[in-house]
Amino acid sequence: MKNHVISNNEEAQELIKRLQEYYHEPVLPLSSFCRAMSVWRDCIVKNNTDPNLLRQENQGGRYFNFLDELYVDIRKSNLLARLLYAKEPLRSRMCPIHKGHYDGNAMFFEKCPHLCDGTGWLRERAGDEGFSGIKIVETPDSEIGKRRVQKWFGKFR
Ligand SMILES: [Zn+2]
Repeated sequence: MKNHVISNNEEAQELIKRLQEYYHEPVLPLSSFCRAMSVWRDCIVKNNTDPNLLRQENQGGRYFNFLDELYVDIRKSNLLARLLYAKEPLRSRMCPIHKGHYDGNAMFFEKCPHLCDGTGWLRERAGDEGFSGIKIVETPDSEIGKRRVQKWFGKFR
């Protein structure tokens, strides 16, 4: 079973069913969860903007106009990417230089000497790596400079 390659959707669904039985809760691909959150946001906004759905009190009536801005923050959140994609624990020790705040330069260009990865918080485990969604590689002969962005990993599509 360890090196068994899942060959089709039916087999994948059977494995998901077994995982659900093991965990006693729903198990689904992260993309399915993200899609559900997006649908939920769209429904809350529609319930509060579509004249055919408006009532005196609608679910989300007090906050629906903030959801688009909140959704942008969720989609670009490095914390959420580290928790969900990199499966890191929440970092609890503050970086002495960046003091708990994001620093784009330390995240993307100049590595922090304390390895906070520009998050402002120190890695919890020795095996954790900085997770920015991109990988920066040294390319001394590159025409665009010493460093360049190698690859983008999607987050919350
Ligand atoms: Zn730092």
